[in-house]
Amino acid sequence: MQSNKPALNGKVRYTTRRYKCPHCGSCAKVRSSKEESKLVTKRYLQCQNIECGHTYATMEEIVHTITPSAMPDPSVNLEVRGITTKTANG
Ligand SMILES: [Zn+2]
Repeated sequence: MQSNKPALNGKVRYTTRRYKCPHCGSCAKVRSSKEESKLVTKRYLQCQNIECGHTYATMEEIVHTITPSAMPDPSVNLEVRGITTKTANG
């Protein structure tokens, strides 16, 4: 069996996204996901803490573009914005 550790030599793996249970703070696993639209994905998650057992759904939305695609889809309309970082002191 292969481990789920990300390969850091070269390719970046995006499957290691960690979700946290809002109740107990443990890791939650994606059980299934559904593409609601090109920009919105609904995910069903299950907390991995057996003493908690929370299952829940999330909505993940692409909110803006940072670097435009070289193969733009005309049906995808996203505002181009830079990365915004908030500071604690404003
Ligand atoms: Zn939990």
